[in-house]
Amino acid sequence: MEAYETNMDALYQEIILDHYRNPHGRGLRDPYEAEVHHVNPTCGDEITLRVHLDGDRVADVSYAAEGCSISQASASVLNDLVIGRTVDEAMGLLDDFTELMQGRGKVVPDDDPRRDRLEDGIAFAGVAQFPARIKCALLSWMAWKDATAQAFTDHSTSDQGENE
Ligand code: ZN
Repeated sequence: MEAYETNMDALYQEIILDHYRNPHGRGLRDPYEAEVHHVNPTCGDEITLRVHLDGDRVADVSYAAEGCSISQASASVLNDLVIGRTVDEAMGLLDDFTELMQGRGKVVPDDDPRRDRLEDGIAFAGVAQFPARIKCALLSWMAWKDATAQAFTDHSTSDQGENE
């Protein structure tokens, strides 16, 4: 049984390493409504992240990231998960992912109901065992949340008379 669990951990670690080696959607792109720079000083991870919204839909999330494999893989998974969703849906995924990171490693990824929604993001369940790494996993998500909030603030002045 223990060997089986170890194998599962290895599988999920491989998913994280795949994203690290082949990050999805990396690079900073135009157009964008907001850009933020977030740092995780405990590990030395940094990310510059831009959001482009199309109405209430996430049209693009582009980024340049430096740091550990977990922080970079997390940015890649974020990119996969939120582009094309409405901001509300994407914020729901942020909540799911944050909850997963607060699971103290007790979440069993195979059985977790969030698995369908978080896709490869569920691979980070094991990271939650290591308090020092939780901020690595959350860095890109916090940057995205911040940038999205700023994008909305900048556009809120034009709420009136907006026709769809
Ligand atoms: Zn890190």
